[in-house]
Amino acid sequence: MTDLPGYGHDHGDDEDTARGKVPVPPHVQDAIRTLIEWAGDDPAREGLIDTPKRVARAWLEYCQGYAEDPSIHLTRTFSEVGGYDEIVVLRDIPFQSHCEHHMAPITGKASIAYLPQNRVVGISKLARVLHGYARRLQIQERLTAEVAQCIWDHLHPQGVAVVIEAQHGCMTGRGVRTPGVGMVTSRLLGCFLADPRSRKEVMSLMGY
Ligand SMILES: [Zn+2]
Repeated sequence: MTDLPGYGHDHGDDEDTARGKVPVPPHVQDAIRTLIEWAGDDPAREGLIDTPKRVARAWLEYCQGYAEDPSIHLTRTFSEVGGYDEIVVLRDIPFQSHCEHHMAPITGKASIAYLPQNRVVGISKLARVLHGYARRLQIQERLTAEVAQCIWDHLHPQGVAVVIEAQHGCMTGRGVRTPGVGMVTSRLLGCFLADPRSRKEVMSLMGY
């Protein structure tokens, strides 16, 4: 397909590298052209000439999480917490992911809480853990569980709670087409799972 006429405006790999852009292999571009054609448009028309490369690079960004181990963000902890022994909450962290069934966007917000056991982590790191798992092909249930488990395994807190509220492009933009419908998932571990009073406290701190 790369030899078809009409793709003459394509920039070579050398030119892309010179401009600091990741080169996109021809077979990846071909795959996206095939999809455009399958959807009913002409991949050779002017507006779509550079689209395969843009789409490919966008997907590298959407799926950046594959290139990292999110637990890396939890390696630097602080034991001097000034006697603080209450719940730490990061509320309404916006995120974007993509569903593994349709590769459609999942957009939403997450609230992450933990009850420290001697050690705390820089608060922005919790958001980084979230993004590390969100920037992959996901289902919301697994994303929620993975974030909670990662914090549980690496920070060794007394409890972890993760609540995610999100809208799924595969539901709002296709299929049953129900915009505005959100899905809520939660994962509770440790004291938040075992003790109803701790659970009530953490859920109310997270706004639920
Ligand atoms: Zn889907």
